[in-house]
Amino acid sequence: KPVVIIVIGMAGSGKTTFLHRLVCHTMASNMRGYVINLDPAVLSLPNGANIDIRDTVRYKEVMNQFNLGPNGGILTSLNLFSSKFDEVISVIEKRADQLDYVLVDTPGQIEIFTWSASGSIITEAFASTFPTVIAYVVDTPRSASPATFMSNMLYACSILYKTRLPMVLVFNKTDVAQHQFALEWMEDFEVFHAALDSDHSYTSTLTRSLSLSLEEFYKNLRSVGVSAVSGAGMDAFFKSIEDSAEEYMETYKADLDKRR
Ligand code: GDP
Ligand code: MG
Repeated sequence: KPVVIIVIGMAGSGKTTFLHRLVCHTMASNMRGYVINLDPAVLSLPNGANIDIRDTVRYKEVMNQFNLGPNGGILTSLNLFSSKFDEVISVIEKRADQLDYVLVDTPGQIEIFTWSASGSIITEAFASTFPTVIAYVVDTPRSASPATFMSNMLYACSILYKTRLPMVLVFNKTDVAQHQFALEWMEDFEVFHAALDSDHSYTSTLTRSLSLSLEEFYKNLRSVGVSAVSGAGMDAFFKSIEDSAEEYMETYKADLDKRR
């Protein structure tokens, strides 16, 4: 069975560019990938997609028809598409033998996917059928300040607890800034506290105590540094996907079987 990789992350973190990089890497390595685009507002997809939400719903028309702004248009498009998602799953199931990975891109604005009924429906549809892993893309240069880093990690944490799926933290844009600092902050909260020392505001105190609570979260994660632009870090990424797929079998799948 193929492993489903759902790419999630803040707007501009590089999800679409990363997905494009995954497609190039799988092709070059003789791995068989199947691409699903769930972003109705994406302008161009360099490699196209096997299944594209834009073939089914036109979000500009949805905006006009329901008198919505851009975010409402994207959300409503995703809702319309999720109502037929069982068809998407059966298309993939028919090809399961010929596929190694299903690569899924999600809308630019993170909450459209992570805090919507349709996002949950789609995630659960994948996770109840295939080994499924969340690739949480982080904009590394933009997470260099401890407070921004913390808010990004809290978001990742909430997604982990909401989906209960294995997660890989993908520190992207390492061609601009290395992710070593992030690994050190996650490994040792004292290093993180030292980085906070120049800041004595209320958020700094809060951030300090939150970092202690996140220790358990960090322990259960895999982290890799990549550059979607240069292609650095791809082998490490796929290795952590393999480990995560095993974790899916041991935890999520076992739990699913018990409940059935
Ligand atoms: P999305 O909203 O998460 O899908 O982000 P995009 O893939 O559209 O990328 C947002 C911006 O970040 C674009 O200008 C990309 O060219 C840029 N970007 C993405 N990945 C990288 C990377 O690895 N390195 C650099 N330097 N820029 C990147
Ligand atoms: Mg995108």
